Amino acid sequence: MNDKHIDNQFDSMKKTRHYNIPIFIPELACPHRCIFCSQDKITGQLKSPEVSEVDSIIKEYLSTIDYENSFVEVAFFGGNFTGIPVKEQVKYLNVVKPYIEKGIIKGIRLSTRPDYINKEILELLKDYNVKTIELGAQSFDEEVLIKSGRGHKVEDTINAAGMIKESGFDLGLQMMIGLPGDTLDKAIFTANKIAELGASNTRIYPAVVIKATKLEEMYFNELYNPLKMDEAVLWSKEIYKIFENNNVTILRVGLHPSEGLLSGDDLIAGPFHISFRELVLTELWNDQFAELKNKSEYNLKIEVPVKEINYAVGYHKKNKLELERYYKSVKIVGNKELAGREFNAVYN
Ligand code: SF4
Repeated sequence: MNDKHIDNQFDSMKKTRHYNIPIFIPELACPHRCIFCSQDKITGQLKSPEVSEVDSIIKEYLSTIDYENSFVEVAFFGGNFTGIPVKEQVKYLNVVKPYIEKGIIKGIRLSTRPDYINKEILELLKDYNVKTIELGAQSFDEEVLIKSGRGHKVEDTINAAGMIKESGFDLGLQMMIGLPGDTLDKAIFTANKIAELGASNTRIYPAVVIKATKLEEMYFNELYNPLKMDEAVLWSKEIYKIFENNNVTILRVGLHPSEGLLSGDDLIAGPFHISFRELVLTELWNDQFAELKNKSEYNLKIEVPVKEINYAVGYHKKNKLELERYYKSVKIVGNKELAGREFNAVYN
């Protein structure tokens, strides 16, 4: 198994835990070579899994969770699921089928390319209880798509998103920031477009330079420079706000930390950080606290939503330390009554 990460979210509607069992189908299955992609390096897995391995992965995850009281989905990620031969797709989907029939697994989600969606594929996926299709949109700017060697157009993403929605699937649209030709304005346009097309969820991936990709060649030939960390955080922060305001669930910000990325062996350059989301949320809270940055002789207590305390305090306590420059003391505590990015400032 490649990545032990269990993507668990709290499903506030059903008040049950939501688990994704991730199964990576790497790029060997994908006939394309986007300039930034080396899926084996990103997912840490070179070979497509055998049917028996997929079944073992599912069994292993189920043994670690209370699946009877949870909402469990299998997630085929990592490559271009609908780009692999139909026979292969069916082979993988069939592994999950018995679990769905027994009610243990509630559905399937998968990620794929916009230009590998058509009516026949969607019918097949529907028959196998696929609930969510995530498209790697990456950008809604034609120039960025061309420069990144995506091999599809903006129109393909718009058409595929429409078909997915019409067929009753949940739509996910993933985006990348900092690809060749990208700008903050283009990234903001992309995020707005994702919301406008009715995506219920998204992932934000800052582009990084991975070993053995075309981007690596461009980087060493000084034809490409990745975003600096602070730029990537700033762009992501702006995009984050757009998704929050439009109720698009942000499933991930930043790449999955594969072994190669963590050790740095596969990472040539670019804004990879194991706590990237935390960096972004730290800055969102920092903006919230801007109005508090006035010199004062008081002690300051800030109440924030309980689950936001760490982000409000900030990565490496950044926000708290900054506020301490203005007050005698600063305390950041949880308040169950607060939600979102609300806060109360109490002075004494
Ligand atoms: S389509 Fe996806 S899996 Fe295929 S090369 Fe591009 S990014 Fe990689």
